[in-house]
Amino acid sequence: MEFRDLKRQYSILRKDIDKAVLHAMEAGTFIGGCPVRELETALAEYAGVRRCVTCANGTDALTIALKVWGIGPGDAVFVPDFTFFASAETAMAEGATPVFVDVDGETFNINPDDLERRILAVKAEGRLKPRVIVAVDLFGLPADYGRIRDIASRHGLLILEDGAQGFGGEYLGRKACSFGDISTTSFFPAKPLGCYGDGGAIFTDNEEWAALAESFKVHGKGTDKYDNVRIGMNSRLDTLQAAILQVKLRAFAQKELDEVNRVACEYSDRLKGAGIGLPSIPEGFLSSWAQYTIRLSGKEERDRLQAHLKENGIPSMVYYPKGMHSQTAFASISDGCDGFPATEKLCETVLSLPMHPYMTVEEVELVCRAILEFKGQE
Ligand SMILES: *Cc1c(COP(=O)(O)O)cnc(C)c1O
Repeated sequence: MEFRDLKRQYSILRKDIDKAVLHAMEAGTFIGGCPVRELETALAEYAGVRRCVTCANGTDALTIALKVWGIGPGDAVFVPDFTFFASAETAMAEGATPVFVDVDGETFNINPDDLERRILAVKAEGRLKPRVIVAVDLFGLPADYGRIRDIASRHGLLILEDGAQGFGGEYLGRKACSFGDISTTSFFPAKPLGCYGDGGAIFTDNEEWAALAESFKVHGKGTDKYDNVRIGMNSRLDTLQAAILQVKLRAFAQKELDEVNRVACEYSDRLKGAGIGLPSIPEGFLSSWAQYTIRLSGKEERDRLQAHLKENGIPSMVYYPKGMHSQTAFASISDGCDGFPATEKLCETVLSLPMHPYMTVEEVELVCRAILEFKGQE
């Protein structure tokens, strides 16, 4: 069994993907061109925002957003402690200071109460200027944007939605990648909407920021390509990836998002009542299920279940074994920073199960049977 079966997905979408790739090759444009422009229009429309600017990967998308806002030394960027490294790495790389925030132990997303507490602490200390909240849509579930927007407005902060895992999710009928002042996503192959290599995108309603993003991603270009008005980067989504993503976005919107929700329901139905922490989707939210993550009672049980699944040929992953505050690379800023009980508990107890839109009922059953058998033996 595959953790995320990209081969099966390709075998099903093959005809359309092969056609799109061949067509792009014959057109002879490999950077830019129609597929990129059309994809940006389709992505913006899907997310419900005015502008989408594609780039080379989800990490660059975060970096470009921070550059657009001029985030740098002396600025505090609030980041959930339980996330993928890039959510915080990018702020640090721009010279800003990530301030880690504990998460909610049920939704895995940034905890609004802890967020406000840490903003007030940074203000009281007066050393850093609070500028940005990086809200991550972890495992496919949008963060609590009702509360986060309220906190951001009251304290004058910008919201950067890291939707690398969140594409397709919803909150109150609005789509992920529309909740930030700027939102970003990643098209890394295993993300909810993945390409066949690296890719990423930035979303915003602000035309001025979109224009700045267009400039930063191509060496800080001015109106003319060889008139460089700022220091930028080389971060383009290439034409072949855009052609593939056009096909995959259609499949995602037409069926894959519904299918991952079907798989999640099947998991939850079979596993409920077995004494396992199941992912909970609060009222008004829809997840795009980048991961289906269960919680066990402790590290020892989690590790034994993972070994048991492996013996049964079932892959599983620990996302994530370490909070940001305990990452070696952040030692200089996290010295003495504490108060992450939810993150610390999750790092010891989470286990992500195989999850993708082409998973059959039989496969879900197989995984659940192995888990229930394990629980029964305890
Ligand atoms: C994958 C991921 C990124 C980075 O995306 P890449 O395309 O791999 O650079 C950033 N944030 C989160 C939460 C991610 O899961």
